[in-house]
Amino acid sequence: AHLPRVTYANTGVDLTPLHDFLDARLPDFKASVLGRTHANSIGGKDDTAGTPFAVCSPIDGVTELGSFFAASDQAVDRAVGAAQAAFPAWAAMGWQGRIELLRAWAKILYARKYDLALAALFEVGKSRVEALGEADEVFDMVCYYCDEMERHNGYVTPLNRVFPHESTVSILRPLGVFGVVSPFNYPAALLIGMSAGALVTGNTVVMKPSEGCSLTARIVMDTLAEAGVPPGVVNLVVGGNETGAALVEHPGIAGVAFTGSYRTGMHIMRLINAGPYARPVIAEMGGKNPAYVSKNADLAKAAQGVARSAFGLQGQKCSACSVVYVDETVRDEFVERLRAYTAGLVIGNPEKRETFLGPVYNEAAAHRMTHALEAAHAQGAVLFGGKRATVPAELKGGQYFEPTLVQVDKGHVLTKEEQFLPLLALRSVTSLEEAIAEGNDVLYGLAAGIYTEDAAELEYFLNTAEAGALYANRPSGATTGAWPGVQSFCGWKGSGVTLKGGLGPHYLPQFMREQSRTVL
Ligand code: GLU
Repeated sequence: AHLPRVTYANTGVDLTPLHDFLDARLPDFKASVLGRTHANSIGGKDDTAGTPFAVCSPIDGVTELGSFFAASDQAVDRAVGAAQAAFPAWAAMGWQGRIELLRAWAKILYARKYDLALAALFEVGKSRVEALGEADEVFDMVCYYCDEMERHNGYVTPLNRVFPHESTVSILRPLGVFGVVSPFNYPAALLIGMSAGALVTGNTVVMKPSEGCSLTARIVMDTLAEAGVPPGVVNLVVGGNETGAALVEHPGIAGVAFTGSYRTGMHIMRLINAGPYARPVIAEMGGKNPAYVSKNADLAKAAQGVARSAFGLQGQKCSACSVVYVDETVRDEFVERLRAYTAGLVIGNPEKRETFLGPVYNEAAAHRMTHALEAAHAQGAVLFGGKRATVPAELKGGQYFEPTLVQVDKGHVLTKEEQFLPLLALRSVTSLEEAIAEGNDVLYGLAAGIYTEDAAELEYFLNTAEAGALYANRPSGATTGAWPGVQSFCGWKGSGVTLKGGLGPHYLPQFMREQSRTVL
């Protein structure tokens, strides 16, 4: 019962018992979960309207994880209709009833954490530790949102009085049906987090996960049914861009919760607000997250934290550290330490205990990596890595790269654009002020980290870095590892649109609209 938890901040714990559980589950998971055909779920019923597609694991490019149906426009329409039909009763249940059900759901998610972790491992190619961390996070996320609902008494607030016999309350009420559109990199946590936010506040949901992560989504759907969440309250339609477009363009959608790329997020926002009135889009988008290594840094901590944030999950996190600004006086020593730490990170099959880096997600990612590496070699800028990784023959259908460090000049594309790859840019700088000014001069503002033992430098960073999540001196990760209720994870600028973080105390009100009720 008291197994260690893989919190990101706690990477030093002995994980042997967790690996043992994962190994114990692995053969049966492969035999009984992988390789089956899964329907969509609409109004509590299986629905197979749509074009069949198969999902293969990025680990080897060939292991079939399952077959699914890309939901047709009609299927999406039915799903929205089912969610609309389920809305009045779900909203009327009240927050106390909903949190009871959702806490029961959280327990089921926890009981199935090895399945959620294995699904993420196979679907995304994430390491065991990343996958188990994600499975722990989903439990904390659902519980956190329930706790927040309770802490705010369901968001009922008594207001002031003008006339002696009148009284007024402000209440927050759900909107209706939320379309939840989630990305591949956290197939359970982001799908569950956004859906839980919508559900606990009384909305109903149509989930549209990234198509390569349809298996995780189907497992999530089954856990909701098991928890007794009524039919139609959550519906699942899988598929690609067309299915997503049919959902966010549907007039029956009251709002969208989205995590994914900047381009798609902004597109959804414009699309949904082209209608007769404004509707909320709660979006968490990309990042270009800098780490600053001062001349007063503990370089061992800095090297470890930067490597873990830059190369964990192959750099495919919105929070990944993708540019490091290093004071020129410690530059050489930092690069050596980073090289040495990175050399110890095992690349290969995520099924293995020791693996830190798996494959990049798909051919498009491999293509972008190859392209970026060619450019970096042409510029003579590769400090380490810079090529495909050598992997055993059985993985040759996967896309494996060495974690790479590239030295760049001010304004280089690698300091400006999100890469979502195991590719880190290094800038050698003469002052922290100069570095932070450069690091701020980007489209994004999700996370930033610093390594310094100097209080004035730390203070300067905290006051000037333009990002919703700031971290100082973390060896577990320079910019990654946000946790529900611990970091709020708010995307500034092009990293988000609502100015409230998905893991923080101001998230839930966004799923509701306010009403004041004045009664004589
Ligand atoms: N919560 C994750 C972290 O802080 C990132 C989630 C994401 O990439 O969307 O590392």
